[in-house]
Parts: sequence; C-alpha cells; structure tokens
Amino acid sequence: MILSETQAAIQASIRAYAQEKLRPRTQAFESAGGYPPELFGELADLGLMGMVAPEEDGGAGADYVSYALALIEIAAADGALSTILSIQNSLIVSALLKDGTPSQKKRFLPDLIGGKTIGAFALTETDAGSDASAIRTRATRATQRNDGWVLNGAKQFITSGKIGKLALIVAVTDPEAGKKGISTFLVPTDRPGYFVDKVEHKLGQGASDTCALRFENMFVEDDLMLGQPGQGYRIALSNLEAGRIGIAAQCVGMAQGALEIAIGYAKERKSMGKLIIEHQAVGFRLADLAAKLEAARHLVLHAASLKDSGAPCLKEASMAKLVASETAEAVVSGSIQTLGGYGYLEEFGVAKIYRDVRVCQIYEGTSDIQRMVIARAL
Ligand SMILES: Cc1cc2nc3c(=O)[nH]c(=O)nc-3n(C[C@H](O)[C@H](O)[C@H](O)COP(=O)(O)OP(=O)(O)OC[C@H]3O[C@@H](n4cnc5c(N)ncnc54)[C@H](O)[C@@H]3O)c2cc1C
Repeated sequence: MILSETQAAIQASIRAYAQEKLRPRTQAFESAGGYPPELFGELADLGLMGMVAPEEDGGAGADYVSYALALIEIAAADGALSTILSIQNSLIVSALLKDGTPSQKKRFLPDLIGGKTIGAFALTETDAGSDASAIRTRATRATQRNDGWVLNGAKQFITSGKIGKLALIVAVTDPEAGKKGISTFLVPTDRPGYFVDKVEHKLGQGASDTCALRFENMFVEDDLMLGQPGQGYRIALSNLEAGRIGIAAQCVGMAQGALEIAIGYAKERKSMGKLIIEHQAVGFRLADLAAKLEAARHLVLHAASLKDSGAPCLKEASMAKLVASETAEAVVSGSIQTLGGYGYLEEFGVAKIYRDVRVCQIYEGTSDIQRMVIARAL
C-alpha cells in the first residue's frame, strides 16, 4: 500500500519517538510492572491517546491507516504499551465518540485524549469470554434514589483495571431480554464499590496490568449509561472491529521489532568464516519471515483503509487479526532461532517479545472466534 504524505510523516515521527524514547526503557517498564504516568502525557502530545478522534474533540483527526501505522511503531518498541493504547483508542475513545452524549464527551474526552485518564474495557467474566453474551454482572435500578443503577458482579482479565481511571463496564440490565438486555456504563473507578481483587501474573506484557475486578453495590448515575438500555452488546461488539485492527497492528509491530533485531544480528554474527546471513539457511529463513510479515502488514492496512472508507470490515478485521497474530508468533520464534542461544537471553530483547506477542491470539477474540466470524461472512 502506498502511503499518503501525512501517513508516512506520522509513521516516521512515531517510529523516531518509539525507537529513541521507548525502546531503551521497555525492559525497565517491565521490571517496574507499569509505566510512569507522565509517559501517557508524552503519548498524548504525539496524538496517540485519541488518534482517530476529530480535531474539534481534541483528537489527532487521523485516519485508521495512520492509527495502525502508529500502533505498529509503538508495538515494535513496547508491546504492552501498544495494548493499553489500542484499548484507549479503539474501545474507549471511539465508543464515547460514537455513542456518548454531548455531556459525556465534554466530561471524559479531554482527560482521555490528554493522557490524564487511562480507560479500561470491562466485558470478560470468569464464565463469559468467547461467549460475551453469557455475562452475569448485573445492573439493577437503585431503590434508595431514582436516578441510577446499582452494579454487582465481577470481571476477569481487564487490561488497565488498576491504572484505569474510567471503566467501560458491560452489564445485564434486563435478564429476560438476552443480548438486548445488556447495557454499557462509563464508570469513574474511584467510586465506592469498585474493587481490584487481583492483578494477574502472566506470561508476558508485565507492564500492562490485567485485573480481576469486583463491583459491590456500586452506584452509577443514569447519565453514565453509554447509549440506551439494551444497546450494550451492540456497543461492546461494534467497537471490536476497530479493536481487532489495533491488535493486528500491534502483532505486526512486535514481529517487526523482533525481525529487525534478528536481521541486525545476522549481519554481524559470524560462523564458519561467514556472516550468518550469508548462510543460505539463515538468509532464506529471514526472507520467509519478512515476506510473511509483509503479507500480514498488508492485511492490517487493507482492513484499516476499508474502515476509513466507511465500508463494513468485520471479516477483514478478523482476517487481519487472525493472520497477523499467528504470523507474529512464527516471526518472533524464527527471530529467536536466528540469534541462536543469545535469542533465549533477556539481554537481546527478542525473548521478551516472544512472551508479549503470544496473547494476541487470545484477547479481543481468540483465533477460533476470528475463524468463526470469517466463516460466517463466507
Ligand atoms: C492479557 C489479557 C488481557 C485481556 N484484556 C481484556 C480486556 O481489557 N477486557 C476484556 O473484556 N477482556 C480482556 N481479556 C479477555 C479475553 O478477551 C478473553 O480471554 C478471550 O476472549 C477468551 O475468553 P476465555 O479466556 O474465557 O476463553 P474461552 O472462551 O473459555 O475459550 C477457551 C478455548 O475454547 C475456544 N472456544 C471457545 N468458544 C469457541 C467456539 N464457539 N468455537 C470454537 N472455539 C471456541 C477458544 O478459542 C479457546 O481456545 C484479556 C485476556 C488476556 C489474557
């Protein structure tokens, strides 16, 4: 895909920032288990906290192709950070722009786009992952006062559940109505009844918190409902289209980060009197990885350009996520192989990317779920 001047400029500026300012610190963020809050201000200054939000709402006014290009570059330097950004942009800011009331936008958008508020998207529960309609978190009308809801229930695997100051919570408001009885709420997380029960220990992406949340008699005012009662399932799932483009972009980015390390290494390391890249086995492996990664990149940018055109792209977003996440694991594994034993050491950075990239085949719909969406469209 040939990029416009603006898209190429965004790609170049985010790449420069990510390589110079993020990559040297990524291991330290992982060890600290998080990011310094001022980092999100830096990202906001680059337009990364509200990339596709219109300029009149304080956003960067970029298109989805630019958004994907930016996420690729951030992920190439720091995978966990790209997860936080993908949720912020695709699932929180976009949902607010599409379904928020003017007063909700006025109240929440400035701090989200300004990097002062990180958003969490709370859909999954212990018994409701792939089958999102099985959620049990319940919102009932408050009995003590007549201007709100009381939420009770628990969520599992919620990214930024701890650092997030605003959570988009999906809950059942009418159990008789099935998918049409689900609603969404925008909830500031500092209110009574919002509990972080656990920050999970996981295989990778240690700098991004993944939480088990509990809501206990948490009062939520009527004006914090996003959309109308019963529209929650549609709101939650419609944003997953952009979400999957975001995750697919981060897969391409992480794979690109690993492959660049492997190519650099293969041009310096010698064995049997030659640079290892001159051994055909190594050169061909890198050629295969680069070609597969390029194919995945094109799928991602194609889905993003469809989204920009306003055309439906659920199938293409799922194809991009499926192919990019599975390709990325193979590319990162092949990159480790290229470094031999050094690939297995933390020092070279590829081992961390291997851990970080694995989850991309699981969150925002597993590979099986993407296949299901694609098969239905076929
Ligand atoms: C690090 C991390 C961060 C996450 N962040 C968030 C977040 O911010 N917000 C949020 O709401 N969720 C988040 N999730 C949850 C994630 O989206 C779910 O884990 C995912 O959707 C899978 O659900 P599950 O874990 O319950 O697996 P299950 O749904 O139980 O699936 C188990 C296995 O069965 C397969 N399977 C299930 N149903 C079918 C089917 N119909 N056909 C074929 N195969 C099927 C799956 O593909 C999988 O292999 C996160 C998860 C992780 C690990």
